[in-house]
Amino acid sequence: MTAATAMRRHGGTKDGGGRQVLVVDDSRVIRKVALRIVEALGFAGREAENGLVALEACRAAMPEAVLLDWNMPVMDGLAFLEELRRLPGGARPKVVFCTTENEVPQIMRALAAGADEYVMKPFDREIIASKFEQVGLIGS
Ligand SMILES: [Mg+2]
Repeated sequence: MTAATAMRRHGGTKDGGGRQVLVVDDSRVIRKVALRIVEALGFAGREAENGLVALEACRAAMPEAVLLDWNMPVMDGLAFLEELRRLPGGARPKVVFCTTENEVPQIMRALAAGADEYVMKPFDREIIASKFEQVGLIGS
């Protein structure tokens, strides 16, 4: 178990556990992969399985960045993003949209709703690192 995983399991990242990235995806496998990547990049990872859970997580503690899935039950990525940007402090997190297809209208809607960047699934550490650089989360 990595230190970051241990911290997450014990709730240590919720308050003052470093720079936080919230991974929002209904796939447990994708969340696990994404958490490993953001933790390898030096961030404290948090996770949510849909937009509504993610919104609650942001109300409790606003993360520095959000990796956001598009298709999710309960509340999808777009609805989450629109709600997030209305929250106090909700303009601050960098939001990277994760989509499965190179679907331009979907990307345009995400960017119009306030996403900072987007990635195509499947993503890897290199792709996430490059997007985080582009939005100024990590130095190049
Ligand atoms: Mg999904």
